[in-house]
Amino acid sequence: MKIILLGPPGAGKGTQAKTLASKLNVAHIATGDLLRQNVAKDTDLGKQAKDFMNKGALVPDELVTQMISLRMQEADIEKGFILDGYPRNINQAESLDKILKDRGSEIDSVIYLDASEPVIIQRLTGRLVCSQCGANFHIKNMPPKVAMVCDNCQAKLFQRTDDRAETIKKRLEVYLQESHPLIEYYKKKGKLKRVSSDEDAGIVLDKMLKLLNREQ
Ligand SMILES: [Zn+2]
Repeated sequence: MKIILLGPPGAGKGTQAKTLASKLNVAHIATGDLLRQNVAKDTDLGKQAKDFMNKGALVPDELVTQMISLRMQEADIEKGFILDGYPRNINQAESLDKILKDRGSEIDSVIYLDASEPVIIQRLTGRLVCSQCGANFHIKNMPPKVAMVCDNCQAKLFQRTDDRAETIKKRLEVYLQESHPLIEYYKKKGKLKRVSSDEDAGIVLDKMLKLLNREQ
């Protein structure tokens, strides 16, 4: 099963992608992880990406697409995958279609995790991010075992400055505006499914699994 997970910040996309991938026994491909791995392994693409990241600039579409393309050649992809953080725009969506088409494949479903604004604000204002591995925690909903310390790698957790209430509304607005063409793109292809993610993570996961099972 080849699935793309979309959703605004605070919809729980990262956590759901990881859990859904392990439930379906498919690969979890997160752009953030892919970038970190390429930088850590000091690959050609990683070196180029690092230059942009050091300048505080966004890593260009083309570079991320090349990383995705290489990732799609690995053996575990045969079972299927959940894409998390890619594609971000029409340009990347078209590149992805081409990468898969060249391999005689295509995306099966695109799930849009839809959360309401009050829920998003409540979730994001308490979010803690690991400075080393990028893992997410939440002061109330998913606290780390030791305060402000990552469960996975024991590095320090921090609150992103753009996770404060006043900036969240703005980020959400920007996300909805930028993702609109992407959502329309997959809607036209008949692949888009909306799932409300206001409820607890377990309930949302069940809803996604039911939705995907119905199609098999
Ligand atoms: Zn960590």
